[in-house]
Amino acid sequence: MENDILDVLLSEEEIQLKIKELGRVISEDYKGKNPLVICVLKGAAPFMSDLIKRISIHMEMDFMAVSSYGASTVSSGEVRIIKDLDASVEGRHILLVEDIIDSGLTLSYLLDLLHRRKAASVKIITLLDKPHNRKIELKPDYCGFIVPDEFVVGYGLDYAERYRNLPYIGILKPEVYTS
Ligand code: 5GP
Ligand code: MG
Ligand code: MG
Repeated sequence: MENDILDVLLSEEEIQLKIKELGRVISEDYKGKNPLVICVLKGAAPFMSDLIKRISIHMEMDFMAVSSYGASTVSSGEVRIIKDLDASVEGRHILLVEDIIDSGLTLSYLLDLLHRRKAASVKIITLLDKPHNRKIELKPDYCGFIVPDEFVVGYGLDYAERYRNLPYIGILKPEVYTS
């Protein structure tokens, strides 16, 4: 598995240091608000798991799984909900946890949905941001790292469901795609 990696973009240490800092800021910003921290499965699961351990205030967690509809509707940003939240978000302060923002379409759909469900506030935290490919204007409220416009894997991010278990984020060797 490690042989398939061309370059390590972000080491385990860099990632953990950044998460510690993000946890501190979130704990400050959400003091007294009992935020509902929502993980967008599956990619954000490792980030979510490490982040909540750095949040030092009361909070609750929930999970959502979504997938894009066929190619024709990708551009509309319409997504299919595969696993919905357990409880109502009405009146709750929501922190949406993502692995990476690329076009922004998935998150913009989720933002709309949570506002329609009458959340008190919705903010976005993403570990990685690739701002070069946006199809819709969307800015994360908290971001770990801005990454170049390359396909990255590891720490939750997959290629064909593989590499999610790497403890760091790396760039795949081109032959992995072509073989
Ligand atoms: P978008 O912002 O385009 O709606 O969707 C972002 C999703 O596309 C991410 O949650 C992730 O699943 C996938 N994605 C985007 N860029 C990358 C990348 O560089 N590597 C991997 N593994 N997935 C990506
Ligand atoms: Mg994701
Ligand atoms: Mg994926």
